Amino acid sequence: MVFESLADKLQQTFKKLRGRGKLSESDVADALKEVRMALLEADVNFKVVKDLVAKIKERAIGQEVLESLTPAQHVIKIVNEELTNLMGGTQSRIAIASRPPTVIMLVGLQGAGKTTTAGKLAHLLKRQGKRPLMVAADVYRPAAIKQLEVLGEQLEIPVFTMGQDNPVNIAKKAVDQALMMARDIVIIDTAGRLHINEELMNELKSIKQTVKPHEILLVVDAMTGQDAVNVAESFNNDLGLDGIILTKLDGDARGGAALSIKAVTGQPIKFAGMGEKLDALEPFHPDRMASRILG
Ligand code: GDP
Repeated sequence: MVFESLADKLQQTFKKLRGRGKLSESDVADALKEVRMALLEADVNFKVVKDLVAKIKERAIGQEVLESLTPAQHVIKIVNEELTNLMGGTQSRIAIASRPPTVIMLVGLQGAGKTTTAGKLAHLLKRQGKRPLMVAADVYRPAAIKQLEVLGEQLEIPVFTMGQDNPVNIAKKAVDQALMMARDIVIIDTAGRLHINEELMNELKSIKQTVKPHEILLVVDAMTGQDAVNVAESFNNDLGLDGIILTKLDGDARGGAALSIKAVTGQPIKFAGMGEKLDALEPFHPDRMASRILG
């Protein structure tokens, strides 16, 4: 599970701190050095670590913390709060259009889990009482269309396809179709590439301009660490995002992407992929993630 090694290290550090009773400024400084190392080893962005540790330090070496009866508990609470803030503070929900359908565009590089996530998200929203329509707009990889159709059958959710037609046209027709079928959510699975390139971005921009999605969500693979953060930064700068779906958090990702992506891009993680199964998508809760790290 993600954060395993980071959680181990931080828990050891805080165990030592708790064993000490009264704390001096240098006790706290030593502990924070270990926190800093652990975060860097977890592949958290360097500047994010620097800012985070500075914030924790400023709060933790204050009189009321050091002179309290349980200073270590105070320090741990501060770390927990700052980790939570780093990941966005509170849960970020998707925007639901006042006039249906709500259009959600999923973007991302190949292999990140985009098509699977389209199915998972549709399933999650269906369980919440919505009526999703999935749209196969990844026309360069015929297998992706088939993959979405199979997911649709398994989930009993309709899939809109037009074969290898123009993706902008497909997206536009899909929204018309959703209106006719009274589907209130449209989830567009767009094309991925191995790397970001201009052609891909131009196509995504055209879809964006034409269907004006309420949510553009980037699907990124947590296992790719800081690469995921860089990809998110590029997509956000070029296309504009409304949030991130971080996949493969069930694997042994060190957690750097989860902890850095909001601070670096300004975009919150809205959902987390926790496995290959279709029910393995969860709303992302920063406070629960922080508590998982601190045990
Ligand atoms: P796409 O190229 O971005 O559309 O990626 P796919 O949806 O085809 O997914 C690529 C692989 O990642 C598949 O084997 C998925 O089962 C797997 N995958 C997607 N999300 C998760 C996740 O949250 N956890 C795990 N363990 N695997 C995932």
